[in-house]
Amino acid sequence: MRKIIVQKFGGTSVADTDKIKNVAKVVIKEKQNGNDVVVVVSAMGHTTDHLVKMAKALSPNPSGREMDMLLSTGEGVSIALLAMALQAEGYDAVSFNAMQVGILTENIHSKARIIDIKTDKLRKNLDEGKIIVVAGFQGVTEDGEITTLGRGGSDTSAVALAAALNAERCDIYTDVEGVYTTDPRVVPNASKLDEVSYEEMLELAHAGANVLHPRSVETAKQFAVPLRVRSSFKLDNLGTLILGVEKMELYKPVAGVAADLTQARIVVCDVPDTPGVAANLFSALAKENISVDMIIQSYARKISNTNDIAFTIDANDLSKTLAVLEKLKDKINAGDIKVDDEIAKVSIVGAGMIDRPGIASTMFETLAKLGVNIRMISTSEIKISCLVDKIDAQKSVKALHTVFDLECDVVADVKGDLPDV
Ligand code: ASP
Ligand code: MG
Repeated sequence: MRKIIVQKFGGTSVADTDKIKNVAKVVIKEKQNGNDVVVVVSAMGHTTDHLVKMAKALSPNPSGREMDMLLSTGEGVSIALLAMALQAEGYDAVSFNAMQVGILTENIHSKARIIDIKTDKLRKNLDEGKIIVVAGFQGVTEDGEITTLGRGGSDTSAVALAAALNAERCDIYTDVEGVYTTDPRVVPNASKLDEVSYEEMLELAHAGANVLHPRSVETAKQFAVPLRVRSSFKLDNLGTLILGVEKMELYKPVAGVAADLTQARIVVCDVPDTPGVAANLFSALAKENISVDMIIQSYARKISNTNDIAFTIDANDLSKTLAVLEKLKDKINAGDIKVDDEIAKVSIVGAGMIDRPGIASTMFETLAKLGVNIRMISTSEIKISCLVDKIDAQKSVKALHTVFDLECDVVADVKGDLPDV
């Protein structure tokens, strides 16, 4: 049987018609290898940002439905153009949006999850020898409503398609050469990882390494889809292969360092130390689809019998979160609510830190030497995250990258602006 390869190209790879021609060449090369090819594309360049800006100019709080209606148009443009470019090269290609394929999602706007993907139409077209170009980022509910999967969601579309089609591999083509030990724009001699496990990549993605949409890694892990991140401009570089930890040959205690600069911290002060308070608080947030990241509940104060609950959220959810808390404040008998969005989460990640003492203390000592104050700490088996002031994030990343021996001799060839601090 012929193998199916799913290829995904991000916005920078399809930013203009010359770049779309380049993508067509990459696709054709895979087809010439004798594989069936399904291509997933994002919107061209900064199209989605531009659409968001127009929406915000018209309404401070546009409805989720209309937002999805608007944002899904970006990918509609790029699929048609890529299919045309492939046809112009003499290949039989056809583009489909999510509705035409049947990429079914939950009925939630702006961050829907994929429930099911119909494969009959895709298989029929592949059997006819066609190259299929599918719109990333979008889905459709059972009632025919258009949804989107959240910013950066085309990665997840690609992996979900690869899983549904039982593809040999999912190749994510982007403007960087793979997954690095940290953001090469911050640390120029960051090393490219040849391999990284799903588990590590998942933690890195959640920790703010903006290479892959976290849900794409989750899906790849769940369905054991081998995932490759590579550059669409440097084809001789095989990039980074993401696979099960049991298949990896070697792993260091720390595989990577990442900073998430889009967090906000909320402290709900003086809540009664009684059962049900945390349940009330976090279920109210969950109902509004707000994901909470770090959570810390302080030790109860004896005299007042109260404690503080601090947590972090995506800064984009801040106003929604405050609205929920305002309503809930009296019900849970809370005192002040404090907000801080000048913070960042700095994390070290590595499957090799399991059962290896001293990793956390090295991290804390390194930050202490820099005079960086740690505001919150959270850990998983393979990740340690510290919440620090936003202005300390970059120097913390640099120092941790050095102390855990992640540097390489070559300076990464990366363009692009530094993340905002
Ligand atoms: N176009 C969407 C975005 O900019 C989806 C994606 O690029 O993955 O977020
Ligand atoms: Mg992306």
